[in-house]
Amino acid sequence: MNPKIRVRFAPSPTGPLHIGGVRTALYNFLFARKHGGTMILRIEDTDQGRFVPGAEEYIISSLAWCGIHFDESISVGGPHAPYRQSDRKPLYKQYSDLLLNAGHAYYAFDTPEELEMLRKEAEESKQTFTYNAVTRKKLRNSLTMNPQEVEKMIGEGIPFVVRFLIPENTEVVMEDIIRGKVVVKTETLDDKVLYKSDGMPTYHLANIVDDHLMEISHVIRGEEWLPSLPLHILLYQAFGWEAPQFAHLPLLLKPDGNGKLSKRDGDRLGFPVFPLQWVDPKTGETSSGYRESGYFPDAFVNMLALLGWNPGTEQELFNMEELITAFSLERVGKAGSKFDPEKTKWFNHQYLLRKSDEELALSLKTLLADKGIEAELKQLTKVVALLKDRVNFVHEIWNEGQFFFEAPLTYDEQVIKKRWKDDSPAIMQSLALMLQDVHDFNPESIDAAIKQWLEVNGFGMGAVMNALRLLLVGAAKGPHLADIMSVIGKEESLRRIKNGIEAINNQQINS
Ligand code: GLU
Repeated sequence: MNPKIRVRFAPSPTGPLHIGGVRTALYNFLFARKHGGTMILRIEDTDQGRFVPGAEEYIISSLAWCGIHFDESISVGGPHAPYRQSDRKPLYKQYSDLLLNAGHAYYAFDTPEELEMLRKEAEESKQTFTYNAVTRKKLRNSLTMNPQEVEKMIGEGIPFVVRFLIPENTEVVMEDIIRGKVVVKTETLDDKVLYKSDGMPTYHLANIVDDHLMEISHVIRGEEWLPSLPLHILLYQAFGWEAPQFAHLPLLLKPDGNGKLSKRDGDRLGFPVFPLQWVDPKTGETSSGYRESGYFPDAFVNMLALLGWNPGTEQELFNMEELITAFSLERVGKAGSKFDPEKTKWFNHQYLLRKSDEELALSLKTLLADKGIEAELKQLTKVVALLKDRVNFVHEIWNEGQFFFEAPLTYDEQVIKKRWKDDSPAIMQSLALMLQDVHDFNPESIDAAIKQWLEVNGFGMGAVMNALRLLLVGAAKGPHLADIMSVIGKEESLRRIKNGIEAINNQQINS
């Protein structure tokens, strides 16, 4: 263990976790494990207005599904408990007071209506209103009012906020592991609210106080937080605390590279943006998830790891242990990474190929049971072995190989036209008679018997096999016929030949 490395994933439970958020959690996890550090989950729920029921549970289950585990969290506990900010509420006032007393923050009494008016006025003259070094000198706050008046208003319970006093005319110099040195002039910053008279801190105050108290060494988070970094650095300076190191991860972009991949893009672009399915508690609207779409968690994690980070080699397949060994923040790029839904399927295919036939057969068994189909594990293992090359997901084995479990109900018209000749019924009957005598009904014996029978009778292989496939499968698809017959068995093969001849005959009469 390395007690010096402590990282945290700090989601706000305002809805389901987007895959960008999962990637942030993953990079924190890889970094912590690589350095023998500690991985912390902290729930940042100070913005009660944006609280969404079920979101916290959703975030926790999603990360568990991905194999991302925490050493300290609301459920595991830890030396800095509680790990949910609303449970830490009483703790923040003293830090707000500390800043007030040191002159780094001030009380402001401007009502939301007054601020809205100022915003509107600014808009009318094509400007934007900011609460900053210029405007704060003319507004209702403890910088412009006399101390007795301020005390009286607070005593009377008049609502207020505490704002950070951005220092005038200086530069904030920041070091980011991914972006290098970033310099920002303080005139571009506004006096953000840190604390409210209802006793709730805002994100900025709670985040800095908790990162300090929880001894966070590295803050690894999304690029969307980069604009907050100057304020965060100034807060550390105001408190006189050592700041952690920062790493702001590149954005995940839409597949065409045009803009950030957002929560709304998901199903609209034909792929999920959430790890697990999510049902909106207000509207009842369902958004699809990677788990429910048939992705393996290890394939999903492998794909996400490579969106922004690269190992510097050609290797693409990494299990979690390999990711931990190979990962470094230095190999995370600055540029946004385009999400590639096809590549995501490719990853799942690669993982599917590497799973044992027995394991896949077990998943297939559950899937078939949901459709009311009972099948032997031994038979399913054979089906899996025959079809896994052709599919990206276990459920596609059903789409590709339904005929292994159910006799065809219809026969492809196009194939009948092309492959079913006048003499086909007689030839198929004779073939069935021959097959009856094949005792060991395995692929090799079936193939040998058919080959000999073709030779003796002088039939062409193509014509016979195409017609036979039509009877067994109902269409011109599927793996090698002897393999299919051996899996479904002699009895079922003969039944399909007999019934198929009749059914095609009827289908032709009726058409
Ligand atoms: N609560 C913030 C979020 O929802 C955390 C940002 C950070 O990691 O500082 O993303």
